[in-house]
Amino acid sequence: EWQSEQHVFEADVSRLLHMMVHSVYSDKDVFLRELISNAADACEKLRYESISKPQLASDGTPPAILVTLNEEAQTLVIEDNGIGMNREEMIDALGTIARSGTKAFMERLEAAKAGEKAELIGQFGVGFYSSFMVADRVDVISRRAGEGEAWKWSSDGKGSYDIVGIDVGQAPARGTRVVLHLMDDAKKYASKWTVEKIIREQSGHVPVPIRLVDKEGAEPSQVSDGAALWIKQKSEISKQDYDDFYHRVSGQYDEPLANVHFRAEGRHEYTTLAFIPGSQPFDLIDPDRQGRMKLYVKRVFITDEADLLPRYLRFVRGIVDTPDLPLNISREMIQESPVLAAIKKGVTSRILSALEKMAEGEAETFSKVWDLFGPILKEGIYDDFERRAQLLKLARFRSTVSDGATRSLADYLSGMREGQSAIYYISGSSLDQLRSSPQLEGFRAKGIEVLLLTDGVDSFWPTHAPDFEGKPFKSVTQGLADLNAVTGEGGTDEGDRQASPEVKAFIDFARSTLGEEIGDVRVSDRLTESAVCLVASEHGPDRQLEKLLQGAGR
Ligand code: ADP
Ligand code: MG
Repeated sequence: EWQSEQHVFEADVSRLLHMMVHSVYSDKDVFLRELISNAADACEKLRYESISKPQLASDGTPPAILVTLNEEAQTLVIEDNGIGMNREEMIDALGTIARSGTKAFMERLEAAKAGEKAELIGQFGVGFYSSFMVADRVDVISRRAGEGEAWKWSSDGKGSYDIVGIDVGQAPARGTRVVLHLMDDAKKYASKWTVEKIIREQSGHVPVPIRLVDKEGAEPSQVSDGAALWIKQKSEISKQDYDDFYHRVSGQYDEPLANVHFRAEGRHEYTTLAFIPGSQPFDLIDPDRQGRMKLYVKRVFITDEADLLPRYLRFVRGIVDTPDLPLNISREMIQESPVLAAIKKGVTSRILSALEKMAEGEAETFSKVWDLFGPILKEGIYDDFERRAQLLKLARFRSTVSDGATRSLADYLSGMREGQSAIYYISGSSLDQLRSSPQLEGFRAKGIEVLLLTDGVDSFWPTHAPDFEGKPFKSVTQGLADLNAVTGEGGTDEGDRQASPEVKAFIDFARSTLGEEIGDVRVSDRLTESAVCLVASEHGPDRQLEKLLQGAGR
């Protein structure tokens, strides 16, 4: 009596499935952590929705994930009693790609060479669709909490899927059952020994208990207790525990460079476990991208859309758990909560001081952090006035004297020439281009270091950072480089030197020929080899910023 309907996958899903199945990704185990992660997410969503609608979980059963294996039938089943999906939600979640960053990921994947593909897939985490790496048919049977209908989604991963209504008696009372019909070369995923090992390794910190059963009628054994890692004492947590937790919370599978784990007790009580990733998230440069810290209240997941960190720390992943908010806090309340504002401040401080400590004690790790996230951190120099000095202290630069290694502003100050009153920089799109700029000639000749800035954000922050320890930032392309005050070999120290008659004649010629196109023509000490160069006026935008504004049609 139930009518089955066939739907075609969205084009992007077909592409993703095709790439996944054909890129011979060796570490197929990941499908299991993805499915368990979805089951746990579904339990957390139920916990959250039932705060305002207690009837959704009125049966009182605690959240649970059950994995059932059948070697003969070659099946692996993962069942949860979480929020479940109705028909529309299935079509939306299992036929399209919603996850942000997935499109960027696929573009990178298509451009990558064969060997790199596997690597990328592993880094990204591939979600539900990864089940088709091991199964030639997947059934998803689900009943949404509080609804009277149950649905079955089924596909072989080759372009289309079917959806059909089923008797509620055939579905879990609430939640989702995912049935994998394993391919012959993936039979091992029906063996208890293999599956138990993978779950322990990859999903040990899922905040929902996981049980496993491999014989009809046998008592399931508990593989993981679902206790939250962050409430344990640091001394009880191994690096492996931390790394596993990071993988789950971030959906990234690299090795994090550092973690910041602490409990604050004072005006506000909260626990934070945050990580500095070991690779760049795919959507890092997305300007709309906010942070991804997860907010928990008394260990109940609330949202990952509370702005728990400033934008310039959006690469940090982790959780904040606090008992100081009501469980039924609404989105609007989250936006305006003074408690969260205080927590955000506290967590930001702790992360920045952890970075400072790292910069002092573990320079090598810090330079990795800076390579990956420096351009993002620099946004804070103009976004966060209060912490500008702290961020400038963390910042690392290439310069005319750094070869290979990077320099801090403290290094710069200690190398300043006598009489030098500013920190000089030049910005552009590549180091090579900057190094060969005629603007640098006079500075080189005087032995004055110039910072070489090549990140997009470098066109903005120096104009917003009036000084570092009393020294202003000054673009070498801007106005008169007051080289004369600096003593040293090379160049010329004459101040208001009279231009020779020939030079005077040239200046008059240039002024009359270029007219309105330019502001002025001046004799300068900034060049030692080239004859002329263009500079911006003392108070206007610097050359690089001028170019950007022109490019933007201004
Ligand atoms: P992600 O988990 O990053 O959103 P996935 O591909 O893993 O991406 O899952 C896609 C979507 O399918 C989920 O966001 C969720 O809406 C839905 N989903 C998958 N598994 C379950 C489940 N066990 N219970 C409820 N919804 C699920
Ligand atoms: Mg998922």
